[in-house]
Parts: sequence; C-alpha cells; structure tokens
Amino acid sequence: MTNIISALLRVFTLILLLHVGLSHGHADSSHSRGPSDAKSKVAIVLHGGAGTILKKNLTPELEREYRNTLRRALDAGYTKLLSGKSSVEAVKAAIVILEDSPLFNAGRGAVFTHAGKNSLDASIMQGDDLSAGTLAGVHRVKNPILLADKIRTDSEHVMMTGEGAEEFAKEHQVDLVAPKYFFTERRWQSLQKAQSGDASQTKLSHDDAENFKYGTVGVVALDVSGVISAGTSTGGLTNKRYGRVGDSPIIGAGNYANSECGVSATGHGEFFIRAVVAYDICALLSYQKMTIQDAADEVIQTKLRAMGGNGGVVGLDAQGNIMMSFNTPGMYRASIDRTGNAEIKIFKDR
Ligand code: ASP
Repeated sequence: MTNIISALLRVFTLILLLHVGLSHGHADSSHSRGPSDAKSKVAIVLHGGAGTILKKNLTPELEREYRNTLRRALDAGYTKLLSGKSSVEAVKAAIVILEDSPLFNAGRGAVFTHAGKNSLDASIMQGDDLSAGTLAGVHRVKNPILLADKIRTDSEHVMMTGEGAEEFAKEHQVDLVAPKYFFTERRWQSLQKAQSGDASQTKLSHDDAENFKYGTVGVVALDVSGVISAGTSTGGLTNKRYGRVGDSPIIGAGNYANSECGVSATGHGEFFIRAVVAYDICALLSYQKMTIQDAADEVIQTKLRAMGGNGGVVGLDAQGNIMMSFNTPGMYRASIDRTGNAEIKIFKDR
C-alpha cells in the first residue's frame, strides 16, 4: 500500500514539474514572466511630446497636472514590470493613461485635422521577435495603442489604416467611441488659430499657441526577461489634411525596438520619417557600438538639426541605460531606471 502511495506521489510530482517547466517556457510574451528581484532588472522611460515648452508659459496648476499624469503613467508601466509582466504590457498600461488624459496629443486630447476631425496614429513593437502592429487615420478607437497591439498579436499584418483598422478593432473587441469623445476646447481653439492666419489653409500648425508644438506620447520598457518594447501614439499635427500620416505609426521612424535598443520619437514627423530616426539610433548602437545616449544625440542634435527637424526621443538599451534627447526647448519626459531612481522633467533641466 505504502509503495503504491509513494509511486503515485512520484508520478504526481513529475506531472507537476513538467507543467511548471512547460508554462515557464510559454512563448506568449503577454504572460507573466515570473520575477525575482525584478527591480534591478526592469526600466521604463516615456515622453509626452516635445516643443516650445517654457516655464513662463505654464501655470503652476497646469505644470502640476502634467507632472502628476506623467507620474501616473510611469507608475502604471513600472508596476507591470515589477510584477513580472512583459514590456509590451508595461508600454500599453502607461500609454493608455496618457491617451485618456486630455493633456496630451494622443487619444482623448488629440489635435484636429483641417476638416475638424481627430485622426489617430499609433504603433507598438516588441524587440525580441521584432513583432509590430501599427495603425493610421482612425477616428473612433478610444485607445489606439491597444488596437496597435491587437494588430501585432492577432493579425498577419503590421499596418492597418482608416475604416479597415476600425473594422478589425470591432471584430477584436477593441473599444470604439463616438468621434465627439475626442473633442477638447483647447485643441479646437488651436485649429481655429492655425486656420485663421493662413489664406490657403493648407499649412500644418507647427506653432501652437499653448507653449508646445508636439504632444505625441511614447513609452519604452525593459522587462525582467530582458525584452525591450516601444510604443508611440499621436493625433499628428494640427490642421493636417489629405490623410497626412506622420512618423509615429511608422516602424523605424517614430518607433522601434530590437533586442538591444528601443526608441520612441516625437516631433515634426516629416523629418523623422526621412531621417528614419528611431532605427538610425538603434543602428548606431548595434553597428558603431555607440552608447544609446550618444547615438540619440548624434541623430537628434546633429543629423536632424542639420535637416531643420525639431523634436526628441526617449529610449533604453538592454542594460537598462535610459536615454532622452531633444532639440526643442522642452520635452515632457519621465523614467525609472534599474536602481529604482525616478525622474520627471518638462523643461531643459528640470
Ligand atoms: N510626430 C508626430 C507627427 O508628426 C507629431 C508629434 O510628435 O507630436 O505626426
């Protein structure tokens, strides 16, 4: 009898061990990665747009609101990482908060097109397998970053646009809202201003009255398994027309991640597309063995500046080194590194 019981116990233990082993090696990165001492392995960095952000133009209340929302987004992503969730999960959690806030030019606070609509672009990329999902020109998707990830995981495509992307969203239970959800008075006034002084009414607004030119959001995260992911979400540029699409949903331009490096960009998209900014930074790191900060400075401060392009990037490498670089007066930005040190900055130095 004792022999039978101990044999049964051995079989049971074996089944249990096999099960644990199999689920540990599960390929689906959205599963928990089983952390131990996660804090020393994970890192996260984000931006909420770059531009003419000057202290004298921000009221203390508005500055506090920006800092609080950046903090909430940072914490949402970091909590995911600490609990062993994948970097994609962290990127999504942080971006959803920024998309839901009317402060940033993504999701809820998106700028208006020439026709008075909100047209949203987003992208996400996971660095270990180079899987990516991106979308452009949607009008009814509440959180474009969630749709981008659905495209990444549940379709055989990388990029979808307009009505097709919304049809896919509907089929995959991604939240759709009435277009008026995206209306904010402040963005509407920016459109009025952009159109009033412009006889041809075809010019994009690069000179927003409200202290900042670009308000795109982006997050790059490194998880306990060492996987880097990057996401970017935007309403594009005020007064854009003809179905204009910027760099944010273009892999390699406004967003990129591989096994060594991840970058999210914000700025004048036409320049970022032509300079292939996000990929260029990662390529300098891979091929020239530059640090991620030097690589970003080379591209943003030298190459982009010479072309006349304005904006910035955030990113990190596989060792968790945080990078931020911008050639505008300010950039909404925040990070937590592998020592747990958190930073939230808006202006040049603070
Ligand atoms: N890069 C975005 C675009 O050109 C704008 C931004 O960063 O705010 O669409």
